Order: sequence, then structure tokens, then C-alpha cells
Amino acid sequence: MTTKLYWTDSHLTEFTATVVDCLTQQGQPVLVLDQTAFYPEGGGQPSDTGSINGIEVTYVEATADGRILHHLKTGSGLQVGEPITAIVDRARRREMMQQHTGQHIISQAFFQLFGAETKGFRITADVTQIDLTLEAQPHEVAAAIARAEELANRVIFDNRNIRVHEVMPDEAAKLPLRKESFITDCIRVIEIDEFDWSPCGGTHAKQTGEVGLLAVRGWERAKQMVRVEFVCGVRALQDYRLDHQIADGLARQFTVGRAEVLNSVSRLQDENKTLVRRVKHLAEVAAQVEAQELLARVGENNGKRVVAQVINDRDFEEVKMLAHKLVAQPGVVALLATAQSESAKLVFARSADLANDMNALLRAACEELGGRGGGKPDFAQGGGSRVNLLEQVLEKAGNKVKEGA
Ligand SMILES: [Zn+2]
Repeated sequence: MTTKLYWTDSHLTEFTATVVDCLTQQGQPVLVLDQTAFYPEGGGQPSDTGSINGIEVTYVEATADGRILHHLKTGSGLQVGEPITAIVDRARRREMMQQHTGQHIISQAFFQLFGAETKGFRITADVTQIDLTLEAQPHEVAAAIARAEELANRVIFDNRNIRVHEVMPDEAAKLPLRKESFITDCIRVIEIDEFDWSPCGGTHAKQTGEVGLLAVRGWERAKQMVRVEFVCGVRALQDYRLDHQIADGLARQFTVGRAEVLNSVSRLQDENKTLVRRVKHLAEVAAQVEAQELLARVGENNGKRVVAQVINDRDFEEVKMLAHKLVAQPGVVALLATAQSESAKLVFARSADLANDMNALLRAACEELGGRGGGKPDFAQGGGSRVNLLEQVLEKAGNKVKEGA
């Protein structure tokens, strides 16, 4: 078995040891030492990283028989019996210890306040999650979480001592332990002064103040429990910085105080809705006027007025609206198109008092443009990619209409 130095000193990040085994797992070199300060993945907490004799340690795991395996990035050339010097990534250890110790504290807070037990725990790349048996109506959950967060931070700010006890099972039975235990390979009890007793084999702060701050980020229902997400210490600071950057950036854009930003966004959304309605109305009016101007420019041919035109720099919806306005008058055929670099869109429409087949006419036009389309006898739409032919295709369709197509 590997001696766990992190059990007796969770702040130890430099140590010496002796190699007891050199393995290869899936092509990766693995070292076993007689003792280690590297925490192996387990109990919801990712493993430590760092280096052994300057070689990167990428992952650490514990085996069922109590050995701790250090996965190395490259071969070490080390032999059994050789001494090594190792360094645990101190910043990562602190980050993990803050999240893990924070979990003990908030889990006890939920237990004390609401009798809620923690049934699941994991530290992810960004947050920590706990799954709680919290019996509460949906509208009560946020308030319950706020109370637990409040109590947890009070315990953190108290800077209470955290003590580690190694006890025999019969002694453990006499302690007021929280029921849940994620690490069961020992009876190792973590005591937070006058607050929590919890069996655990992980790495913990020496005093609650090291956790810094605990901030709940959100919650959701999961597996018929309440899953609470939170960040502690350095992660809470990073989260605050990001939130502040966003809130401050918004406040500057609106030239208001941070507390006013939500009102400003609501106001902007309302204004936008009003403007969209207004723009739609104005577009209708403009299409009506444009339709009259276009009709004034074309002559009558066998009692029909044919408007065949490419209208660029315009939304296709607006072009269709213009077609509708044109054919709202009697005796009109509208053959309109809009084109972008490699795609043309067409709409063919006619007044209700005419009999020309727009569907057939449009199909033929789109085919010439290398595309397709269709619709009803009085209104059809489609497109094609041969934009350079667009003018001449429209002219041809116009001539067909004049000839009675
Ligand atoms: Zn723990």
C-alpha cells in the first residue's frame, strides 16, 4: 500500500519518495511510490497533477489493493528503489480543496436547516454539484438554497478549525456523523469545529476561511432530487470577475448603474417590439407607393399591365409584398426578382381577373436559371443560380405574358 501523505498534511506539495514499481498502462508510463502527496481521483474529486523528477504527472488513481498509480506524460527511465522528488500543482490542489471543503460545509448547512442529505457529489471543470434529498415546493427551493448559502458562508467567515480524526469503527459509531460517505476505505473523520462530522478520505482546508467564499450558481431537478451547483474560493473569484465584466460592460453601454441594467434591457426590448411593428407598417405603405409608381411607368398591352423587374438590395419578403400590392389592382402581372452574388429569387403573380398561369411561367423561368420553383396559377415563387441570365429570363417571361401565356 502507498502511504498517503495528503492524509496527514493536505498542504504538503513537495516531497521525496522511493520508486516501488514501474508499469506501462495503455502505452503510458506509470510509477508507484512508497509514499505520495498526490491525491488520486475519487469521491467526486479529480486527481492532483504535478511532476515527478520534472516529468509531468497527468493523472493519479488508486487501485483496489491500496496502491496509488502516477501516470506520467513521458518515460522517466527510473528504476525500482530509486529516490524521486515530486511537486504537486499547488494552485490546482488549493482550488480542489476549496471546492471539496465547501461541499462539507454546504452539505451540513442543508442537513441542519432542512434535514436534506447529500446523495451525490462531483467537482467538474467549472463547478461543484451536490444532489440533495431536499423536500421543497418549486417556489421554495430558491429561498431554501439562499438560507443554506448564507449559513455556509457564515461558517467560512468564522474561520473555524478543521480537524482530522482517524478512528476505529466502534468509535466512529459514537460520533454525530452525517450519513453520507463517498470515500469508504478508512474511518477517517473530518470535523469542522462545532458544525460537522463527516467520514472522508479527501483533502481539506485546515480552517474554513481557506474556502474564501461559497456562491451558488443554480439548481435543477435531477434523479428526483435537487441538484445544486456552486463555486468556492478561486472559482468564486473567477466567476465574480466574469459576471462583473458582463454587468459592467452592459452598464457602460446603457450609461446606467449596474443595478439599472435589467430595466434598461427590458426597455430596449419593448422599444424594439414597437419599432418592428412600425417598420412593418411603413414597409406596407412604401410597397403601395412603389407599386403605383411602377404601374405608372408601364403601358397597357391587350388590357394587361406587365411589370417585369429585378429589384436588388431588398429582402425577398419585401419583394413578395410589392408583388401583392401590384396585383391587388385589376389587369396586372408582376414578374419580380431579387439577386445576390450567386442566387436569384423570383416571384410571379397576377391579378384575380386574369387567367395567365404563373406556376407554369415561373417553372420555365427557374429551369433556365438552373433552379426550381412553383406555386398556384395566380402566385408562384422560386429561384436559380444563373444570376447573369436573370434580366433576359424576366424579359422572356414578360413577352410570353403579352402573347397570352
Ligand atoms: Zn472530504
